[in-house]
Amino acid sequence: MTELKDKIYYTDKNILKIIESEFELIDQKNWYRLYRNKKDNSYWRLDEWDKYQEQFFVRLESADNWTEYDDQNLRIELLKKHRGTTDHKCTWKDCDKNTLTEMAICEFHAYTEMGLRK
Ligand SMILES: [Zn+2]
Repeated sequence: MTELKDKIYYTDKNILKIIESEFELIDQKNWYRLYRNKKDNSYWRLDEWDKYQEQFFVRLESADNWTEYDDQNLRIELLKKHRGTTDHKCTWKDCDKNTLTEMAICEFHAYTEMGLRK
């Protein structure tokens, strides 16, 4: 068994393998799939595959209203962790966050204004 310690992952080959062996598909709607971990019974949500979109696998608090769960902050944090940050300030007006590595803006503005996901 592979323990997934984080709350969100980019769905790469490794994650897909883990889903296949350690998760059970429970439901499927609105471009998402609901999975349950066979070992600890935690619920996770997978984006339906789309060749133009980064696919995420997110741990949910529960299966209630599972399609409504807002994971934007987790996605932004993952973007920040993946890219890394610098000591420079974001150039967006009135923003005091640091920029992502080799970019002029922070993770929030890269996500919300540029649509950057990874
Ligand atoms: Zn910013």
